[in-house]
Amino acid sequence: MRHQWEEPERARLQLSLLRWFRTHRRDLPWRASRDPYRIWIAEIMLQQTRIAAVLPYYDRFLRNFPTLRALARARQEKVLRLWSGLGYYTRARNLHRAAKEIVCNHGGKFPHRLRDALALPGIGRYTAAAVLSIAYRLPLAALDGNVARVLARLGAIRGDLRVPRRWQRLAGGAEHLLARQAPGDWNQALMELGETICTPQNPRCKDCPVSRFCLARARRLTREIPAARRKRAAVNVRIACAILADPRGRTILVREPGAHDSVLFSRLWQFPAVEVRREPLTELGNHLRKLWGFGSPPARLEALPTLRHPVTFHKATLLPFMARVAKLPHLAGTRILALNQILELPVSSATRKIAAVAVSGSA
Ligand code: SF4
Repeated sequence: MRHQWEEPERARLQLSLLRWFRTHRRDLPWRASRDPYRIWIAEIMLQQTRIAAVLPYYDRFLRNFPTLRALARARQEKVLRLWSGLGYYTRARNLHRAAKEIVCNHGGKFPHRLRDALALPGIGRYTAAAVLSIAYRLPLAALDGNVARVLARLGAIRGDLRVPRRWQRLAGGAEHLLARQAPGDWNQALMELGETICTPQNPRCKDCPVSRFCLARARRLTREIPAARRKRAAVNVRIACAILADPRGRTILVREPGAHDSVLFSRLWQFPAVEVRREPLTELGNHLRKLWGFGSPPARLEALPTLRHPVTFHKATLLPFMARVAKLPHLAGTRILALNQILELPVSSATRKIAAVAVSGSA
């Protein structure tokens, strides 16, 4: 097991990886500039999200908010709408709050000091180090899951990498190995290696620019490192939801607390919904009565196709019901709009799925 590298081996390892990165780096839009704002947006979007999924969102987001000040000035609803479908909406809310704080406290420029960056909402040690090293060349090592895996394999470090003591040691090793003359490139090179070559399964060691330094490879341990993490047990939930449709093809969405499941609908606009235990139709009818004070369910609730929707460790079964009504209720905290236009509001991907079956069911 190895966390530290002696000279001149460390310098050779750094040189090999940096050279490889400079010739093989993928051409990604956030690499086109050193603007901290653009790098920050990319780092937040890339959290728990694949690059291919991020690309169209990144482009659209920056077309709408080309500068940090433009983002700070925007209405939260617009920020969330442009994030709709990307998931983990707390990221968008924090991004927006942080942009406002940067305008108020840092003259509209992403702060230079680690301490100031860490004080912003939604910015942890990894994101701060990534942005500051790439944009301002500050010598800070960025340690995420990809980088940890590469470092663990290079040093043949066994065990669950997320155990705090082990993670701390990896963080120390990452600082020690950091190429201080090019910290931004170095951090990106490690991430790139982890994403493209030193992948979780079947690392391509033959193509690896640092294979000759790798202890896991030398000891034939690449399959065992890192150790598999214990998965959190899946939580099964059944959510019944009502799509009310009037004769003009309009529907009603809600957002008030208590009318939603925060994991599935992320406090965005959604169809009225409730978690059900036994009888979905009865429980949904009761929920609608409670929500809007109806004496009875608004109309006959007609079942639409069931949907599966996994989010993190939740395995949700969505049970959509269509109700045709003569008139939609006009109540505070609701929005009425055409069923096929709900994407104009910020909605989660669960709501998008429900809307899609409702649109085909109402055609
Ligand atoms: S040699 Fe293989 S296991 Fe080692 S760092 Fe390279 S890709 Fe990863």
